[in-house]
Amino acid sequence: MEPNTDPFHRKITYLRISITDRCNMRCLYCVSSDSLKPLSHRDVLTYEEILDITRASVDLGITKVRITGGEPLIRRDVLHFIRLLRAIPGLKDVSITTNGTLLKDMAGPLFEAGIHRINISLDTLNPLKFRRITRRDHFQEVWDGISAAKGAGFSPIKLNMVVIKGLNDNEIQQFAALSIQQPYVIRFIEFMPIGETTFWDRQKIMTSDEIRSRLDSLGSLQQVPSSVNDGPAKMYRFENAKGEIGIITPISDNFCGTCNRLRLTADGRIRPCLFSDDEIDIKTPIRKGCTQEEIRKLLKKGIAKKPKRHYAGHGNNACLRPMSKIGG
Ligand code: SAM
Repeated sequence: MEPNTDPFHRKITYLRISITDRCNMRCLYCVSSDSLKPLSHRDVLTYEEILDITRASVDLGITKVRITGGEPLIRRDVLHFIRLLRAIPGLKDVSITTNGTLLKDMAGPLFEAGIHRINISLDTLNPLKFRRITRRDHFQEVWDGISAAKGAGFSPIKLNMVVIKGLNDNEIQQFAALSIQQPYVIRFIEFMPIGETTFWDRQKIMTSDEIRSRLDSLGSLQQVPSSVNDGPAKMYRFENAKGEIGIITPISDNFCGTCNRLRLTADGRIRPCLFSDDEIDIKTPIRKGCTQEEIRKLLKKGIAKKPKRHYAGHGNNACLRPMSKIGG
């Protein structure tokens, strides 16, 4: 068996790296209060430690990395880190997920540092609702950031909207229309029961069928083949549209059978499944001076621990960490 194959014959090729748990927004569905206590700096993996772990994971067969957080662009020297990450032989693809607030100034330098694919989270096109959801007043910055990403040459630009019934489902059409006018991939993501939030409720999930039924009036929507970088999204396109639509349903129609991911949290834990707090401490061994071979062993242990599937959304919350402390 290859070193990156898990007990259920899934090949793990994708590492999501959270480089910080800090965020400049406080989305009400992500964190339950405005006073999320950040990790102390010494508890966060250094860039050197992250690079060592990434090198070891590439040795095992990881080819893709996504940088996330917290908000990754607020960590100091992130561009320098990205250049070093891009230089790792065998690592074919590096992308980033950001809330877009800092992109106006950073899109160009990010592109030059070697990241060309970007996911930007945006849950509403209404500035007042934006303030309600994020508890911050950054709508215009995000909107300008999206244009800056387009200007810098990012492709694709994916706009991720977490659809929550009663909160922003009335904007599904407006978001979908953006995919007609602009070369954006609009991704509708199911609301997941993650973290301490008391906001989650199964009744707030919009299923794929419900989302698609809202799109009928915009034109004829065709399912299109998913490309390798579409991940678990089912992809659609309106006739003559510049962009595409993606629908991601981790709860109502999970895609665990094709999961190819491992996560690394900012505080140095390997997290085999998004929905499980069963993690492996990799920071302590590294700080005790373990070898690259020992890091590879810990990563293999993480791969071996991947559960067959998650049961999130069935009864109790499956995990306690909020998304900002996992790395979405
Ligand atoms: N700060 C970056 C951002 O905003 O994209 C990266 C981290 S953020 C935690 C990653 C993604 O997780 C965001 O798109 C956010 O909307 C999503 N997210 C957080 N909590 C979620 C939940 N309960 N269900 C679905 N998506 C969630």
